Amino acid sequence: MTPSTFRILVVEDERDISEQIARRLESEGWEARQVHDGLEAVSEARDFAPDAVILDVMLPGIDGLEVCRRIQAEREMPVLMLTARDDETDILVGLGVGADDYMTKPFSMRELVARLKALLRRVERAERIGGGAPEGVLSHGDIEIDREGRRVRRAGDEVHLTPTEFDLLVCLAQNEGKVLSREALLEQVWDWVDASGTRTVDSHIKALRRKLGSDVVRTVHGVGYAFETPAG
Ligand code: CA
Repeated sequence: MTPSTFRILVVEDERDISEQIARRLESEGWEARQVHDGLEAVSEARDFAPDAVILDVMLPGIDGLEVCRRIQAEREMPVLMLTARDDETDILVGLGVGADDYMTKPFSMRELVARLKALLRRVERAERIGGGAPEGVLSHGDIEIDREGRRVRRAGDEVHLTPTEFDLLVCLAQNEGKVLSREALLEQVWDWVDASGTRTVDSHIKALRRKLGSDVVRTVHGVGYAFETPAG
């Protein structure tokens, strides 16, 4: 992946929105390809091999959830999901769809580009294994976090996390016992801060608890979240 040219797959059935997104991405010097239904999205994800996917939830054919599952099953790729409502985002995270970020419509093109850039930076960082990336295994009770291999085990069993969930877990575990605000987590894990983004943090915490166990992350009301080493 060259530093500035990215290939982005835009999956959106509302053609004017799709066109606007594609034009904006092209003005960044990126290559954008548009598809307008779910099944086409799955085959384009394979043929076009994008660096990231912008994926609308409500699509003809198969919906965005199923598209996300199918493309992630073939190759892990960053997905930014577009939802119609805020509560829809929570539902999607609860289902463990595996998207890396969510935006609720309507959104500004500027924000979309900023979020995509942050997402692509994180992926690049994750791919630079050994190149300044933190190495070694973090061990907390029965939780083992292999930062180099980007794998997590609890009580010996591998727990599958999305790249964003993994980064969030590492950030919390490295600050064990310390309470981190949603804004601090956004800045460190997502690389952007915006008032609307605190919901994204909450949603990913929910996913972490569901996958790893509810005893791993403590909520400090009005402040933020803290990693807790499980007792047994
Ligand atoms: Ca739609």
